[in-house]
Amino acid sequence: MSNLEVTFWQRVLELAQQSQTQNSYDYFVASARLISIKNNQATILLPYEIQKKFWETNLESDILTAGFEILDTEIKAVYVFPEDLEDDLSLSEPSYAELEDNQSQTNYLPPINSNLNTAYNFDNFIQGEGNRFAKAACLAVAAKPGTNYNPLFIWGGPGLGKTHLLNAVGNTIHHDNQNSRILYVTIENFVNEYVASAQLGKDKMDEFRQKFRNLDVLLIDDIQFLTNKQSTQDEFFNIFNTLYDQKKQIILTSDRAPKSLENLPERLVTRFDWGLSVDITPPDFETRVAILEDKSQHYDFNFQKDAIEYLANQVDSNVRDLEGALKNISLIASLENLDIISVETVAKAIRSRSASAAKMTVIPIEKIQEEVGKFYGVTVKEIKSTKRPQNLATARQVAIYLSREMTDNSTTKIGRAFGGRDHSTVLHAYNKIKNMIAQDEGLKIEINTIKNKLK
Ligand code: ADP
Ligand code: MG
Repeated sequence: MSNLEVTFWQRVLELAQQSQTQNSYDYFVASARLISIKNNQATILLPYEIQKKFWETNLESDILTAGFEILDTEIKAVYVFPEDLEDDLSLSEPSYAELEDNQSQTNYLPPINSNLNTAYNFDNFIQGEGNRFAKAACLAVAAKPGTNYNPLFIWGGPGLGKTHLLNAVGNTIHHDNQNSRILYVTIENFVNEYVASAQLGKDKMDEFRQKFRNLDVLLIDDIQFLTNKQSTQDEFFNIFNTLYDQKKQIILTSDRAPKSLENLPERLVTRFDWGLSVDITPPDFETRVAILEDKSQHYDFNFQKDAIEYLANQVDSNVRDLEGALKNISLIASLENLDIISVETVAKAIRSRSASAAKMTVIPIEKIQEEVGKFYGVTVKEIKSTKRPQNLATARQVAIYLSREMTDNSTTKIGRAFGGRDHSTVLHAYNKIKNMIAQDEGLKIEINTIKNKLK
Protein backbone atom coordinates (compact mmCIF):
# COMPACT_ATOMS: atom_id res chain seq x y z
CA MET A 1 0.00 0.00 0.00
CA SER A 2 1.21 3.51 -0.70
CA ASN A 3 1.82 5.94 2.11
CA LEU A 4 -1.25 7.86 1.10
CA GLU A 5 -3.38 4.77 1.33
CA VAL A 6 -2.00 4.04 4.77
CA THR A 7 -2.69 7.61 5.90
CA PHE A 8 -6.17 7.45 4.45
CA TRP A 9 -6.94 4.26 6.33
CA GLN A 10 -5.55 5.60 9.58
CA ARG A 11 -7.80 8.59 9.22
CA VAL A 12 -10.84 6.39 8.60
CA LEU A 13 -10.05 4.45 11.77
CA GLU A 14 -9.55 7.61 13.73
CA LEU A 15 -12.86 9.06 12.57
CA ALA A 16 -14.62 5.78 13.27
CA GLN A 17 -13.19 5.76 16.75
CA GLN A 18 -14.84 9.12 17.29
CA SER A 19 -18.14 8.36 15.62
CA GLN A 20 -18.78 4.86 16.95
CA THR A 21 -19.12 3.39 20.41
CA GLN A 22 -16.18 1.36 21.65
CA ASN A 23 -18.11 -1.89 21.25
CA SER A 24 -19.10 -1.20 17.68
CA TYR A 25 -15.60 -0.10 16.90
CA ASP A 26 -14.09 -3.26 18.32
CA TYR A 27 -16.46 -5.55 16.52
CA PHE A 28 -17.02 -3.83 13.17
CA VAL A 29 -14.04 -1.61 12.58
CA ALA A 30 -10.95 -3.03 14.22
CA SER A 31 -11.20 -6.26 12.24
CA ALA A 32 -11.54 -4.53 8.86
CA ARG A 33 -8.61 -4.05 6.48
CA LEU A 34 -8.03 -1.75 3.57
CA ILE A 35 -6.85 -3.71 0.58
CA SER A 36 -6.28 -0.97 -1.95
CA ILE A 37 -7.56 2.24 -3.44
CA LYS A 38 -8.05 2.23 -7.16
CA ASN A 39 -10.11 4.48 -9.36
CA ASN A 40 -11.44 6.28 -6.29
CA GLN A 41 -12.63 3.00 -4.89
CA ALA A 42 -11.48 1.75 -1.54
CA THR A 43 -11.67 -2.00 -1.32
CA ILE A 44 -12.25 -2.96 2.26
CA LEU A 45 -11.99 -6.47 3.56
CA LEU A 46 -14.47 -7.46 6.22
CA PRO A 47 -14.28 -10.80 8.00
CA TYR A 48 -18.04 -11.44 7.82
CA GLU A 49 -20.69 -10.56 5.33
CA ILE A 50 -23.06 -9.37 8.06
CA GLN A 51 -20.68 -6.53 8.86
CA LYS A 52 -21.25 -4.93 5.48
CA LYS A 53 -24.57 -3.38 6.41
CA PHE A 54 -23.04 -1.69 9.41
CA TRP A 55 -20.28 -0.16 7.31
CA GLU A 56 -22.74 1.02 4.70
CA THR A 57 -24.98 2.67 7.24
CA ASN A 58 -22.51 4.05 9.72
CA LEU A 59 -19.08 4.47 8.28
CA GLU A 60 -19.41 5.73 4.76
CA SER A 61 -19.43 9.35 5.85
CA ASP A 62 -16.13 8.76 7.64
CA ILE A 63 -14.77 7.23 4.45
CA LEU A 64 -15.92 10.25 2.48
CA THR A 65 -14.38 12.64 4.96
CA ALA A 66 -11.07 10.80 5.02
CA GLY A 67 -11.11 10.64 1.22
CA PHE A 68 -11.48 14.37 0.86
CA GLU A 69 -9.05 15.15 3.64
CA ILE A 70 -6.25 12.84 2.61
CA LEU A 71 -6.73 12.18 -1.10
CA ASP A 72 -8.60 15.27 -2.19
CA THR A 73 -11.30 13.28 -3.84
CA GLU A 74 -14.49 11.35 -3.32
CA ILE A 75 -13.74 7.81 -2.29
CA LYS A 76 -16.38 5.09 -2.51
CA ALA A 77 -16.19 1.90 -0.57
CA VAL A 78 -16.46 -1.61 -1.93
CA TYR A 79 -16.58 -4.46 0.52
CA VAL A 80 -15.05 -7.82 0.00
CA PHE A 81 -14.94 -10.88 2.16
CA PRO A 82 -12.25 -13.45 2.64
CA GLU A 83 -13.75 -15.76 0.02
CA ASP A 84 -13.66 -13.00 -2.63
CA LEU A 85 -10.01 -12.27 -2.26
CA GLU A 86 -8.68 -15.01 -4.42
CA ASP A 87 -10.42 -13.87 -7.55
CA ASP A 88 -9.91 -10.15 -7.07
CA LEU A 89 -9.54 -8.79 -10.58
CA SER A 90 -8.98 -5.18 -9.77
CA LEU A 91 -5.45 -5.82 -8.59
CA SER A 92 -3.94 -5.22 -11.99
CA GLU A 93 -5.17 -1.63 -12.37
CA PRO A 94 -2.97 1.32 -11.42
CA SER A 95 -3.27 2.35 -7.82
CA TYR A 96 -4.38 5.72 -6.58
CA ALA A 97 -0.85 6.79 -5.75
CA GLU A 98 0.34 6.15 -9.30
CA LEU A 99 -2.51 8.10 -10.82
CA GLU A 100 -1.93 10.94 -8.48
CA ASP A 101 1.76 11.15 -9.36
CA ASN A 102 0.93 11.48 -13.04
CA GLN A 103 -1.55 14.21 -12.34
CA SER A 104 0.66 16.48 -10.33
CA GLN A 105 3.27 16.46 -13.06
CA THR A 106 0.92 17.78 -15.72
CA ASN A 107 -1.09 20.34 -13.74
CA TYR A 108 0.67 23.52 -12.82
CA LEU A 109 -1.65 24.15 -9.90
CA PRO A 110 -2.97 20.91 -8.52
CA PRO A 111 -6.51 21.18 -7.19
CA ILE A 112 -6.60 21.68 -3.47
CA ASN A 113 -8.78 20.23 -0.81
CA SER A 114 -10.54 23.22 0.68
CA ASN A 115 -11.20 21.41 3.96
CA LEU A 116 -14.52 23.15 4.24
CA ASN A 117 -17.22 21.69 6.41
CA THR A 118 -20.27 21.79 4.18
CA ALA A 119 -22.64 21.49 7.13
CA TYR A 120 -21.96 25.10 8.04
CA ASN A 121 -23.78 27.70 5.98
CA PHE A 122 -25.50 31.03 6.45
CA ASP A 123 -28.99 29.56 6.37
CA ASN A 124 -28.42 27.48 9.45
CA PHE A 125 -26.63 30.26 11.30
CA ILE A 126 -29.18 31.93 13.55
CA GLN A 127 -28.76 35.64 13.86
CA GLY A 128 -28.94 37.43 17.21
CA GLU A 129 -27.71 40.62 18.79
CA GLY A 130 -24.37 39.07 19.67
CA ASN A 131 -23.41 37.96 16.18
CA ARG A 132 -25.24 40.41 13.93
CA PHE A 133 -22.16 42.34 12.82
CA ALA A 134 -20.02 39.29 12.42
CA LYS A 135 -22.64 37.67 10.23
CA ALA A 136 -23.17 40.81 8.17
CA ALA A 137 -19.43 41.20 7.64
CA CYS A 138 -19.16 37.58 6.58
CA LEU A 139 -22.03 37.93 4.14
CA ALA A 140 -20.39 40.99 2.64
CA VAL A 141 -17.07 39.23 2.27
CA ALA A 142 -18.70 36.16 0.78
CA ALA A 143 -20.44 38.32 -1.81
CA LYS A 144 -17.25 40.16 -2.85
CA PRO A 145 -14.17 38.42 -1.57
CA GLY A 146 -10.99 40.47 -1.47
CA THR A 147 -12.66 43.83 -1.86
CA ASN A 148 -14.40 45.21 1.19
CA TYR A 149 -13.01 43.93 4.41
CA ASN A 150 -9.57 42.50 4.13
CA PRO A 151 -8.54 40.92 6.35
CA LEU A 152 -11.72 40.18 8.23
CA PHE A 153 -10.95 39.37 11.82
CA ILE A 154 -13.64 37.63 13.88
CA TRP A 155 -13.14 37.13 17.57
CA GLY A 156 -15.10 35.84 20.56
CA GLY A 157 -15.35 33.08 23.15
CA PRO A 158 -15.61 29.35 22.43
CA GLY A 159 -18.71 27.85 20.88
CA LEU A 160 -20.10 31.12 19.56
CA GLY A 161 -19.97 30.28 15.86
CA LYS A 162 -16.61 31.52 14.59
CA THR A 163 -15.73 28.29 12.85
CA HIS A 164 -19.28 28.06 11.54
CA LEU A 165 -19.11 31.50 9.96
CA LEU A 166 -15.67 30.90 8.49
CA ASN A 167 -16.93 27.80 6.73
CA ALA A 168 -20.14 29.52 5.67
CA VAL A 169 -18.11 32.15 3.84
CA GLY A 170 -15.97 29.49 2.19
CA ASN A 171 -18.96 27.41 1.16
CA THR A 172 -20.75 30.41 -0.30
CA ILE A 173 -17.75 31.52 -2.33
CA HIS A 174 -17.24 27.98 -3.53
CA HIS A 175 -20.88 27.74 -4.51
CA ASP A 176 -20.62 30.94 -6.55
CA ASN A 177 -17.30 30.10 -8.10
CA GLN A 178 -16.21 26.49 -8.24
CA ASN A 179 -12.75 27.46 -9.45
CA SER A 180 -11.97 29.68 -6.53
CA ARG A 181 -9.03 28.32 -4.56
CA ILE A 182 -10.30 28.31 -1.01
CA LEU A 183 -8.57 26.86 1.99
CA TYR A 184 -9.88 26.47 5.50
CA VAL A 185 -7.19 25.61 8.00
CA THR A 186 -6.76 25.85 11.74
CA ILE A 187 -3.55 27.63 12.64
CA GLU A 188 -2.52 24.47 14.43
CA ASN A 189 -2.69 22.50 11.20
CA PHE A 190 -0.91 25.28 9.39
CA VAL A 191 1.94 25.05 11.89
CA ASN A 192 2.00 21.25 11.72
CA GLU A 193 2.11 21.30 7.96
CA TYR A 194 4.82 23.91 7.94
CA VAL A 195 6.98 22.04 10.42
CA ALA A 196 6.51 18.77 8.54
CA SER A 197 7.31 20.38 5.18
CA ALA A 198 10.41 22.04 6.58
CA GLN A 199 11.63 18.68 7.84
CA LEU A 200 10.98 16.95 4.55
CA GLY A 201 13.23 19.25 2.59
CA LYS A 202 13.16 21.92 -0.07
CA ASP A 203 10.70 20.31 -2.49
CA LYS A 204 8.07 19.90 0.18
CA MET A 205 8.67 23.41 1.41
CA ASP A 206 8.17 24.78 -2.11
CA GLU A 207 5.00 22.77 -2.40
CA PHE A 208 3.78 24.18 0.89
CA ARG A 209 4.49 27.74 -0.19
CA GLN A 210 2.97 27.23 -3.59
CA LYS A 211 -0.18 25.93 -2.02
CA PHE A 212 -0.64 28.82 0.38
CA ARG A 213 0.48 31.63 -1.88
CA ASN A 214 -1.80 30.66 -4.73
CA LEU A 215 -5.02 30.85 -2.81
CA ASP A 216 -7.94 33.12 -3.54
CA VAL A 217 -9.36 32.81 -0.06
CA LEU A 218 -7.50 31.85 3.08
CA LEU A 219 -9.62 31.02 6.12
CA ILE A 220 -7.50 30.75 9.24
CA ASP A 221 -9.15 29.44 12.39
CA ASP A 222 -7.90 30.11 15.93
CA ILE A 223 -4.97 32.37 15.16
CA GLN A 224 -4.29 32.72 18.89
CA PHE A 225 -2.50 29.37 18.67
CA LEU A 226 0.15 30.64 16.29
CA THR A 227 3.32 29.66 18.11
CA ASN A 228 6.11 31.85 19.34
CA LYS A 229 8.62 30.34 17.02
CA GLN A 230 10.07 32.97 14.76
CA SER A 231 10.40 30.92 11.57
CA THR A 232 6.76 29.86 11.71
CA GLN A 233 5.62 33.40 12.31
CA ASP A 234 7.77 34.64 9.44
CA GLU A 235 6.31 32.06 7.12
CA PHE A 236 2.80 33.08 8.05
CA PHE A 237 3.69 36.75 7.74
CA ASN A 238 5.02 36.27 4.22
CA ILE A 239 2.00 34.30 3.11
CA PHE A 240 -0.26 36.93 4.59
CA ASN A 241 1.54 39.70 2.73
CA THR A 242 1.60 37.86 -0.57
CA LEU A 243 -2.12 37.22 -0.45
CA TYR A 244 -2.96 40.65 0.83
CA ASP A 245 -0.96 42.40 -1.89
CA GLN A 246 -2.83 40.42 -4.52
CA LYS A 247 -6.15 41.37 -2.96
CA LYS A 248 -6.90 37.83 -1.98
CA GLN A 249 -9.36 37.49 0.86
CA ILE A 250 -8.08 36.54 4.28
CA ILE A 251 -10.33 35.83 7.24
CA LEU A 252 -9.00 35.08 10.68
CA THR A 253 -10.71 33.98 13.85
CA SER A 254 -9.42 34.25 17.37
CA ASP A 255 -10.62 33.90 20.92
CA ARG A 256 -9.51 37.46 21.65
CA ALA A 257 -9.15 40.86 19.99
CA PRO A 258 -6.05 41.52 17.88
CA LYS A 259 -4.51 43.84 20.45
CA SER A 260 -4.71 41.10 23.07
CA LEU A 261 -2.70 38.60 21.06
CA GLU A 262 0.33 39.12 23.25
CA ASN A 263 2.43 36.33 21.85
CA LEU A 264 2.30 37.55 18.29
CA PRO A 265 4.66 40.13 16.84
CA GLU A 266 3.45 43.66 16.49
CA ARG A 267 3.82 43.70 12.69
CA LEU A 268 1.32 40.84 12.39
CA VAL A 269 -1.15 42.18 14.89
CA THR A 270 -1.19 45.57 13.18
CA ARG A 271 -2.03 43.91 9.89
CA PHE A 272 -4.96 42.10 11.47
CA ASP A 273 -6.47 45.52 12.08
CA TRP A 274 -6.05 46.75 8.52
CA GLY A 275 -9.43 45.42 7.48
CA LEU A 276 -12.39 44.94 9.74
CA SER A 277 -12.45 43.41 13.17
CA VAL A 278 -15.78 42.19 14.57
CA ASP A 279 -16.59 40.32 17.73
CA ILE A 280 -19.25 37.80 18.67
CA THR A 281 -20.77 37.84 22.14
CA PRO A 282 -22.79 35.06 23.78
CA PRO A 283 -26.39 34.69 22.59
CA ASP A 284 -29.10 36.32 24.66
CA PHE A 285 -32.17 34.40 25.81
CA GLU A 286 -34.23 35.08 22.66
CA THR A 287 -31.41 33.98 20.42
CA ARG A 288 -30.86 30.83 22.46
CA VAL A 289 -34.53 29.99 22.10
CA ALA A 290 -34.38 30.64 18.35
CA ILE A 291 -31.29 28.46 18.01
CA LEU A 292 -32.89 25.65 19.99
CA GLU A 293 -36.09 25.87 17.99
CA ASP A 294 -34.13 25.55 14.80
CA LYS A 295 -31.84 22.76 15.93
CA SER A 296 -34.55 20.74 17.66
CA GLN A 297 -36.29 20.31 14.33
CA HIS A 298 -33.54 17.95 13.29
CA TYR A 299 -34.67 15.51 15.94
CA ASP A 300 -37.70 13.27 15.72
CA PHE A 301 -39.16 14.54 18.94
CA ASN A 302 -41.76 17.06 19.74
CA PHE A 303 -40.12 19.64 21.99
CA GLN A 304 -42.61 21.49 24.16
CA LYS A 305 -42.21 25.23 24.15
CA ASP A 306 -41.60 25.44 27.89
CA ALA A 307 -38.97 22.70 27.61
CA ILE A 308 -37.07 24.76 25.06
CA GLU A 309 -37.31 27.84 27.23
CA TYR A 310 -36.24 25.93 30.28
CA LEU A 311 -33.19 24.66 28.42
CA ALA A 312 -32.38 28.12 27.10
CA ASN A 313 -32.42 29.34 30.70
CA GLN A 314 -30.28 26.56 32.05
CA VAL A 315 -27.60 26.58 29.38
CA ASP A 316 -26.51 30.13 28.76
CA SER A 317 -22.80 29.82 28.00
CA ASN A 318 -22.56 29.14 24.29
CA VAL A 319 -24.11 27.43 21.31
CA ARG A 320 -21.91 24.35 21.43
CA ASP A 321 -23.25 23.58 24.89
CA LEU A 322 -26.80 24.07 23.70
CA GLU A 323 -26.17 21.53 20.95
CA GLY A 324 -24.60 19.11 23.41
CA ALA A 325 -27.62 19.40 25.68
CA LEU A 326 -29.97 18.66 22.77
CA LYS A 327 -28.00 15.53 21.96
CA ASN A 328 -28.23 14.33 25.55
CA ILE A 329 -31.93 14.99 25.65
CA SER A 330 -32.52 13.04 22.46
CA LEU A 331 -30.50 10.16 23.82
CA ILE A 332 -32.56 10.01 26.97
CA ALA A 333 -35.77 10.39 25.00
CA SER A 334 -34.93 7.52 22.70
CA LEU A 335 -33.85 5.29 25.58
CA GLU A 336 -37.14 5.99 27.28
CA ASN A 337 -39.20 5.84 24.12
CA LEU A 338 -40.56 9.33 24.50
CA ASP A 339 -42.13 11.30 21.66
CA ILE A 340 -42.62 14.51 23.53
CA ILE A 341 -39.84 16.37 25.30
CA SER A 342 -41.04 17.98 28.48
CA VAL A 343 -39.30 20.14 31.06
CA GLU A 344 -38.68 16.97 33.15
CA THR A 345 -36.77 15.29 30.34
CA VAL A 346 -34.65 18.38 29.89
CA ALA A 347 -33.93 18.58 33.60
CA LYS A 348 -32.92 14.95 33.68
CA ALA A 349 -30.60 15.35 30.72
CA ILE A 350 -28.92 18.35 32.28
CA ARG A 351 -28.35 16.41 35.49
CA SER A 352 -26.82 13.44 33.71
CA ARG A 353 -24.69 15.75 31.62
CA SER A 354 -23.08 17.44 34.57
CA ALA A 355 -22.55 14.07 36.27
CA SER A 356 -20.75 12.61 33.27
CA ALA A 357 -18.75 15.79 32.76
CA ALA A 358 -17.46 15.47 36.32
CA LYS A 359 -16.55 11.84 35.74
CA MET A 360 -14.75 12.49 32.51
CA THR A 361 -12.18 14.84 33.91
CA VAL A 362 -10.39 11.99 35.70
CA ILE A 363 -7.80 10.53 33.37
CA PRO A 364 -6.21 7.27 34.55
CA ILE A 365 -2.41 7.02 34.25
CA GLU A 366 -2.90 3.71 32.47
CA LYS A 367 -4.75 5.53 29.71
CA ILE A 368 -1.95 8.04 29.32
CA GLN A 369 0.58 5.22 29.04
CA GLU A 370 -1.55 3.56 26.39
CA GLU A 371 -1.93 6.67 24.26
CA VAL A 372 1.73 7.62 24.53
CA GLY A 373 2.69 4.03 23.73
CA LYS A 374 0.45 4.03 20.68
CA PHE A 375 1.93 7.31 19.51
CA TYR A 376 5.55 6.21 19.82
CA GLY A 377 4.94 2.62 18.81
CA VAL A 378 5.92 1.02 22.11
CA THR A 379 3.92 -1.11 24.56
CA VAL A 380 2.76 -0.10 28.02
CA LYS A 381 4.86 -2.93 29.36
CA GLU A 382 7.95 -1.47 27.77
CA ILE A 383 7.12 1.95 29.16
CA LYS A 384 7.02 0.50 32.65
CA SER A 385 10.17 -1.56 32.14
CA THR A 386 13.75 -0.57 32.94
CA LYS A 387 14.93 -0.80 29.33
CA ARG A 388 16.46 2.40 28.03
CA PRO A 389 16.80 2.71 24.27
CA GLN A 390 16.19 6.32 23.17
CA ASN A 391 12.70 5.98 21.70
CA LEU A 392 11.54 4.18 24.81
CA ALA A 393 13.11 6.69 27.16
CA THR A 394 11.36 9.55 25.37
CA ALA A 395 7.99 7.78 25.39
CA ARG A 396 8.39 7.03 29.08
CA GLN A 397 9.35 10.59 29.97
CA VAL A 398 6.49 12.03 27.94
CA ALA A 399 4.05 9.67 29.67
CA ILE A 400 5.40 10.71 33.07
CA TYR A 401 5.21 14.36 32.10
CA LEU A 402 1.57 14.03 31.03
CA SER A 403 0.68 12.01 34.13
CA ARG A 404 1.93 14.84 36.27
CA GLU A 405 0.32 17.52 34.18
CA MET A 406 -3.05 15.94 33.49
CA THR A 407 -3.80 14.06 36.72
CA ASP A 408 -3.88 14.86 40.43
CA ASN A 409 -1.58 11.99 41.37
CA SER A 410 1.46 12.60 43.57
CA THR A 411 4.92 12.01 42.11
CA THR A 412 5.23 8.96 44.38
CA LYS A 413 2.06 7.47 43.00
CA ILE A 414 3.10 8.23 39.44
CA GLY A 415 6.45 6.57 40.08
CA ARG A 416 4.69 3.46 41.27
CA ALA A 417 2.57 3.36 38.13
CA PHE A 418 5.76 3.46 36.07
CA GLY A 419 7.25 0.21 37.29
CA GLY A 420 8.15 1.40 40.78
CA ARG A 421 10.33 4.41 39.99
CA ASP A 422 10.88 6.84 42.82
CA HIS A 423 9.53 10.34 43.01
CA SER A 424 12.80 12.06 42.10
CA THR A 425 12.93 10.12 38.84
CA VAL A 426 9.44 11.33 38.10
CA LEU A 427 10.39 14.92 38.81
CA HIS A 428 13.50 14.64 36.68
CA ALA A 429 11.54 13.27 33.71
CA TYR A 430 8.87 15.91 34.14
CA ASN A 431 11.36 18.79 34.21
CA LYS A 432 13.33 17.40 31.34
CA ILE A 433 10.29 17.25 29.03
CA LYS A 434 9.10 20.61 30.22
CA ASN A 435 12.39 22.20 29.24
CA MET A 436 12.50 20.38 25.95
CA ILE A 437 9.02 21.56 25.00
CA ALA A 438 10.11 25.15 25.42
CA GLN A 439 12.77 24.66 22.76
CA ASP A 440 11.40 22.03 20.47
CA GLU A 441 8.34 22.91 18.48
CA GLY A 442 8.02 19.41 17.05
CA LEU A 443 7.89 17.82 20.47
CA LYS A 444 5.36 20.36 21.64
CA ILE A 445 3.08 19.47 18.77
CA GLU A 446 3.53 15.76 19.43
CA ILE A 447 2.56 16.22 23.05
CA ASN A 448 -0.44 18.36 22.19
CA THR A 449 -1.62 15.71 19.77
CA ILE A 450 -1.48 13.08 22.49
CA LYS A 451 -3.17 15.42 24.95
CA ASN A 452 -6.05 16.02 22.59
CA LYS A 453 -6.56 12.28 22.27
CA LEU A 454 -6.79 12.00 26.02
CA LYS A 455 -9.35 14.74 26.53
P1 ADP B 1 -16.38 28.58 17.75
O1 ADP B 1 -15.59 28.31 16.52
O2 ADP B 1 -16.68 30.01 17.97
O3 ADP B 1 -15.81 27.93 18.97
P2 ADP B 1 -18.35 26.97 16.39
O4 ADP B 1 -18.47 27.69 15.13
O5 ADP B 1 -17.57 25.70 16.38
O6 ADP B 1 -17.81 27.90 17.55
O7 ADP B 1 -19.81 26.69 16.94
C1 ADP B 1 -20.11 25.65 17.85
C2 ADP B 1 -21.38 24.98 17.41
O8 ADP B 1 -22.47 25.87 17.57
C3 ADP B 1 -21.37 24.59 15.94
O9 ADP B 1 -22.00 23.35 15.79
C4 ADP B 1 -22.16 25.69 15.27
O10 ADP B 1 -22.85 25.21 14.14
C5 ADP B 1 -23.14 26.10 16.35
N1 ADP B 1 -23.49 27.52 16.29
C6 ADP B 1 -22.80 28.56 16.79
N2 ADP B 1 -23.44 29.71 16.59
C7 ADP B 1 -24.58 29.41 15.94
C8 ADP B 1 -25.66 30.17 15.45
N3 ADP B 1 -25.72 31.50 15.60
N4 ADP B 1 -26.68 29.51 14.83
C9 ADP B 1 -26.64 28.19 14.69
N5 ADP B 1 -25.64 27.41 15.12
C10 ADP B 1 -24.61 28.00 15.75
MG1 MG C 1 -13.83 27.23 16.37
